[in-house]
Amino acid sequence: AKSSGRGQIRYFNNAMRKKLKRQADIENDLQHGIKNQEFELYYQPIFSLNDPKVVSFEALVRWHHPSNGLVPPSEFIPVAEQTGQIMELDLHLLRLAAKQLYAWHCQGMRTRITVNVSSRHFASLDFVKYIHQLYDDYDLTAGALSLEITESGLIENLNLATKIIKGLEPLGVRLYLDDFGTGYSALGYLHQLPIHVLKIDKSFVDQLTNRSNPLVDAILSLARSLELDVVAEGIENPKQWALLKRKGCQYGQGYLVSKPLAKDDAYRFYHDYQHE
Ligand code: C2E
Ligand code: CA
Ligand code: CA
Ligand code: CA
Repeated sequence: AKSSGRGQIRYFNNAMRKKLKRQADIENDLQHGIKNQEFELYYQPIFSLNDPKVVSFEALVRWHHPSNGLVPPSEFIPVAEQTGQIMELDLHLLRLAAKQLYAWHCQGMRTRITVNVSSRHFASLDFVKYIHQLYDDYDLTAGALSLEITESGLIENLNLATKIIKGLEPLGVRLYLDDFGTGYSALGYLHQLPIHVLKIDKSFVDQLTNRSNPLVDAILSLARSLELDVVAEGIENPKQWALLKRKGCQYGQGYLVSKPLAKDDAYRFYHDYQHE
């Protein structure tokens, strides 16, 4: 028993060392990556469940790493959150999204983009200034750029977060509460936060196959009483679509309609889908 215990410790140490090494590598590479423009946004359509119409795109980051190939966000976003590099990365990606909106606008495509940002930004009014500047720099129309956040960090400084969200309202920036229902939902704070949209987490949508899910019903009824829109994420089959639509969910997102797409594919998708 003793020797197997020691083996486990050695195994643990090796695994730990590898993990730390990987995190240190990511931390180093992130810095270069931003400078070298290694990050690309993909765009996943958010569509109306009631008619075939794309209402917006969610921007999802992809990292073209010079030696490791395509790195998914799950590998580096948590590291960037830990090191604080998420602040710089988010601002960089917000600018990319704003540029894309401008480019699409020039091509005659008026749409909206939501960008995932860390709740860390909701601790300083500088963030409001930055978003105002982006609206200015890229001549964005009201509501063109919106934000997705998870609730966790917002609650720590409710007053400041509220002030920041209010400061963005003149631009038509809407706040999407991401992964709603997972983690520690502090329902008591929900009505105090001036958010606009709830996103039902994919894990709940997954369970909607042949029967409904009381949690989804609860989220939809909560949203109705708070007058929030709802987007269901991770819709992979027509049954989920039908069920959500019947329950009064207005918007959806998922592989059934489209995976996240590179910008030119998103452009084509938008036009094909609207005219179906
Ligand atoms: P999220 O914001 O909850 O994004 C939804 C994730 O589910 C995306 O994964 C998307 O590609 C995936 N997805 C969408 N529809 C389906 C579906 O029907 N089936 C399945 N199996 N998956 C679906 P992705 O792109 O790997 O992003 C993972 C997470 O990384 C995101 O979760 C978000 O928390 C974070 N993330 C992605 N891009 C950014 C970014 O630009 N900034 C920040 N701060 N975080 C990001
Ligand atoms: Ca999201
Ligand atoms: Ca989500
Ligand atoms: Ca999620």
